[in-house]
Amino acid sequence: MEQQAKIYVAGHRGMVGSALVRKLQAAGYENILMRTSSELDLRNQEAVNAFFTAEKPDYVFLAAAKVGGILANNTYRGEFLYDNLMIEANIIHAAYQNGVKKLMFLGSSCIYPKMAPQPLKEDYLLSGFLEATNEPYAIAKIAGIKLCEAYRSQYGSNFISAMPTNLYGPNDNYDLQGSHVLPALIRKFHEAKINNQPTVEVWGSGSPRREFLHADDLADACFFLMQNYDGELFVNIGTGEDVTIRELAEMVKEAVGFAGEIRWNTDKPDGTPRKLMDVSRLHDMGWRHTTDLKEGIQKTYQDFLANVELYV
Ligand code: GDP
Repeated sequence: MEQQAKIYVAGHRGMVGSALVRKLQAAGYENILMRTSSELDLRNQEAVNAFFTAEKPDYVFLAAAKVGGILANNTYRGEFLYDNLMIEANIIHAAYQNGVKKLMFLGSSCIYPKMAPQPLKEDYLLSGFLEATNEPYAIAKIAGIKLCEAYRSQYGSNFISAMPTNLYGPNDNYDLQGSHVLPALIRKFHEAKINNQPTVEVWGSGSPRREFLHADDLADACFFLMQNYDGELFVNIGTGEDVTIRELAEMVKEAVGFAGEIRWNTDKPDGTPRKLMDVSRLHDMGWRHTTDLKEGIQKTYQDFLANVELYV
């Protein structure tokens, strides 16, 4: 990407989009296009077309999506499917029509079948049934990958896709009904600590395994791929390492400094038993993450404390 290039970051207020903007700014890019959802409703095709026609971005990072944890995905099934399909279809098509030089679409590790072998290789896409709780979101994200592949094949568009693992970092969602596990645990342990609660409730059995990547590492990997990768195959982005939810809960408990007990609520769903990315495609290209999980949790708790009024 040329230093003067006009770069549209869709979803710049979210955790991923804001990390991308920080990364681009740190790399000296100044011509970054951003629109809030009230300025531009990405589900509205006419509005998206008008925006692309007027602005003619050179590059696009598609980090806008309706996202959430296991409960939100399972509750708002219609919205997760419709909103995400519309956002992707509108942006990818407008990017093609307006001659965008390169676009990166961001997906998710939940595109893989529930019972796929672990670690998850890119080749396992569409090899089995999806996890029921987030099937609508996964279907939308699979459609986004296929749109990029199809536009590359039919029109020669340089559209690439990356599949991040579970992410955490600044501007995460800390709403306990909608959030993913890591921000939920930061908030729960923090509130229990300041309210002197004896116990914290954590969902499920504690045995599912998950991989976690800091949003700044993700942004670094996305920037790396945008600069160095023009291939048709999509690329997993993760650490290649996972922990149990029980281990994660202990780590967050320690980082926050909560002295009480953890109570496991097995009435809540575990979801997929394990979600670990095979990141050899990315590693073979020469990229690796740098933030280790303990350090990342500390950093994220500090950010939570500094912005607590924004987050809760
Ligand atoms: P998933 O990776 O799509 O399953 O989404 P989540 O990040 O929401 O959940 C990951 C795992 O953490 C599941 O096994 C949850 O049951 C478990 N978990 C434990 N406590 C919590 C919590 O307070 N919030 C959420 N979202 N998940 C929790």
